[in-house]
Amino acid sequence: MSAGGISADAHVAVRLSGVEKRFGHITALDHFDLELPSGSMLALLGPSGCGKTTALRLIAGFERPDAGTVEVGGRRVASPGASVPPERRRVGVVFQDFALFPHLSVRQNVAYGIRRDPDRDVRVDELLELVGLRGDERRMPHELSGGMQQRVAIARALAPRPDVILLDEPFSNLDQALRTQLRAELRQILRDAHQSAIFVTHDQGEALTIADRVAVMARGRIEQVAAPEVIYAEPRTPFVATFVGVANLLPAECRGGIAQTRLGPVTLIGAPDRRPEGRALSLLRPEHFLVREAPDGPVSAQAWQVIARQFSGSEILLEVRAPDGQRVWVEAGGQVRRLAIGDRVELRLRDVETVAFAPSLGIAAPTGSGHREGALAGRAKPPDDQREQPPPGGPLRSAPEDHHAPPANETLETVEPPVH
Ligand code: ATP
Repeated sequence: MSAGGISADAHVAVRLSGVEKRFGHITALDHFDLELPSGSMLALLGPSGCGKTTALRLIAGFERPDAGTVEVGGRRVASPGASVPPERRRVGVVFQDFALFPHLSVRQNVAYGIRRDPDRDVRVDELLELVGLRGDERRMPHELSGGMQQRVAIARALAPRPDVILLDEPFSNLDQALRTQLRAELRQILRDAHQSAIFVTHDQGEALTIADRVAVMARGRIEQVAAPEVIYAEPRTPFVATFVGVANLLPAECRGGIAQTRLGPVTLIGAPDRRPEGRALSLLRPEHFLVREAPDGPVSAQAWQVIARQFSGSEILLEVRAPDGQRVWVEAGGQVRRLAIGDRVELRLRDVETVAFAPSLGIAAPTGSGHREGALAGRAKPPDDQREQPPPGGPLRSAPEDHHAPPANETLETVEPPVH
């Protein structure tokens, strides 16, 4: 079928099949497949340079694929030999800097894409209502706050009723408090408009809170697409596990759906063919541990020592190290909140259901990658000189200290405690 043809699958807002995109010797997208059901919201999440923006640009029509096809609203809009121009794709774009027309009022900006539509005034009123800007319609862009500018940009993109809206890092120009508020607002606006949307972000907190599904990307490919809860609880690869949330990858011996770790057994979840047998790495999140202060007296062989402490208001994470060097990040609640670096703790596992990875399953994310400084749920990378880091993108190895993704922090203390 040529570009512009009708496909049978009109309930799919966007589909990319087998897409490849190269820039000289750089492969930005490689065997890239993605499907967005109509009316849903998808976040493309991944580290810098993994190809997120290239994917959006291919959907919008600003780039052409070297191989594969792009469909929007059931129409094929691009293949290597043919391409529908951006203005005929029924795609709305909200740019990072909002790109409002500075000489046009709020109302004129929103009306811009439908200026020849006889029902324009009714539609603009409806959209101003939807984004909460009734009463501000005569104001000029320079008179608006960042959040208001974003809402104008969204209303403008929604006006022609596109098949999909693409948002490139929609919150990156806004301060932290505003980002948190606008995440919820944006989700509601898009929901109320029954609008299919794809947005690009580095920030896992943003992706997990807004999207119906999250596509985690690495090196031009999608590693996993799933609901946010599934991405967090049942990541399919070490990369996804360590990129989203704080992950401890603990060596384990797996048999019959149970992973035996040094702290006891954990039940494996996920499809049977995804439960490894034999040596593996089990994923343990900080909330999977029960932590209590070690009793006074001689140091027990089971005691772990606190070597870093991260405070982020509601949550305290402790990095603790066993005598053999194994380190894990654990969540500290109750009495344990006041523990300091050098203190000793005992760990037990809660009744955990989690996943484990066979050693062949690839690499972990570079530690702290993808987490923007100051992001609400994201964890910024701790200063490099404060801890040992596994080599970015290096192979997954079995030495315990390599399977460890330190979180980052609003406040991080970390020192080498005295060895007793
Ligand atoms: P970021 O989060 O930093 O914006 P990204 O995940 O959006 O990154 P892309 O911008 O899609 O990544 O880039 C993917 C790769 O393709 C990178 O290596 C980038 O340098 C390269 N690339 C993108 N656009 C071009 C271009 N026009 N010319 C050359 N290389 C490009």
